[in-house]
Amino acid sequence: MLRTQVAIIGGGPAGLLLSHMLHLAGIDSIVLERQSRDHVLQRIRAGVLESGTIKLLRDVGLGERMDREGHVHDGAWIAWEDRPLFLIDTRKFTGRQMMAFGQTAITEELYRIRTRNGGQVIDEAKNVELHDIAGDKPYVTFAHNGVEQRLDCGIIAGCDGFHGVSRRSIPASVQRTFERTYAFGWLGVMSEAAPLNEIMYAHHSRGFALASQRSPTLSRYYIQCDLGTDVAEWPDEKFWNELKRRFPQDVADRIVEGPVIEKSIAPLRSFVSEPMRHGRLFLAGDAAHIVPPTGAKGLNLAVSDVFFLHRALEAWFKRGESRYLDLYSDMALRRVWSAERISWHLTQLLHVFPDEDPFGRRMHLNEFDYLRSSNAAQAALAEQYVGLPFED
Ligand SMILES: Cc1cc2nc3c(=O)[nH]c(=O)nc-3n(C[C@H](O)[C@H](O)[C@H](O)COP(=O)(O)OP(=O)(O)OC[C@H]3O[C@@H](n4cnc5c(N)ncnc54)[C@H](O)[C@@H]3O)c2cc1C
Repeated sequence: MLRTQVAIIGGGPAGLLLSHMLHLAGIDSIVLERQSRDHVLQRIRAGVLESGTIKLLRDVGLGERMDREGHVHDGAWIAWEDRPLFLIDTRKFTGRQMMAFGQTAITEELYRIRTRNGGQVIDEAKNVELHDIAGDKPYVTFAHNGVEQRLDCGIIAGCDGFHGVSRRSIPASVQRTFERTYAFGWLGVMSEAAPLNEIMYAHHSRGFALASQRSPTLSRYYIQCDLGTDVAEWPDEKFWNELKRRFPQDVADRIVEGPVIEKSIAPLRSFVSEPMRHGRLFLAGDAAHIVPPTGAKGLNLAVSDVFFLHRALEAWFKRGESRYLDLYSDMALRRVWSAERISWHLTQLLHVFPDEDPFGRRMHLNEFDYLRSSNAAQAALAEQYVGLPFED
């Protein structure tokens, strides 16, 4: 039988970062990850960091590679068909900057540092089940290398993403979920080529597009596509042509078509599960909420949840104080809903909605023109885009 203070389900960025921050606070944890290490380290996902995420990663000793390889920028550009380019200027309006640095690299760093510090991560933990979460002696069972195991703990942190087991362990009678799905998805390409120097969203009558970055030699591009689109219908040449048609000519001319190393379709979804705590189980990251990637909030929200949760667990294990544990769900959810709102808003603003009528189209256009002309609107957007502060 295994024993630890905090059993962490899921070895993605939320689970690993929590385990690392608990270690710095002298609190013991064991991470149970369903997939193999290779699988986890090869996943390609998010890549734009808010200023609060950058600071936190530096504060916990994860800044060195990020500062060496990441690309600092002052916000994101919007290329709106027939309008001049527009910058969501985070530096001008908030004094803060953002950084492009891939989630894959952050995960690599987290595993490297957890391994160096003797952290326990059990890969390929199958059939994970949570028990007695409403009582004060919770435990987790799982199978590893074909052997059934039991992990006793004081707290369970559910960091196992949208499809994990933790959220489903909360009784339906105490759980409320809120969801919005969208009538389109994103066809994404990762390419081994220098990205544009800036992150740029495009709103075009053919649909939304995004030019983003993961490293000086890796670029990430997306185009809005119909739900039900088959990747096989999109050979590389067709993708590049469509992408370039959605950006102004001078921007399109700067897009370098490198070898495509990944191509996939992601549906867009807004989702929140409340509360983020049930008894001794605390949810963090995608286990509790999903945002559409417009606005790049998913990874950043996982980091802010972990900040709130590690603080609460430190107060509880080290000083016997339960105040932050009791506040965790409400505090995390306040920030979650703010990120949900800005992600939903940017999704509304920047995409083409198939069922939009001419009146809706004028409203849409007017909203962008108002944004371009109003310092107040620009300041509000910049403040949310760069990331709201962590509550005390
Ligand atoms: C394809 C894709 C593209 C994305 N692109 C962007 C983007 O461009 N910008 C952005 O901001 N965000 C993006 N996101 C969202 C962002 O990557 C997530 O918000 C982030 O990964 C959340 O981290 P997490 O640790 O909470 O969850 P995850 O990264 O999902 O980690 C959860 C971990 O739990 C493990 N797990 C699951 N079930 C179990 C189980 N039963 N037992 C044990 N372990 C389990 C999983 O294998 C995984 O390793 C993307 C997400 C996906 C899926």
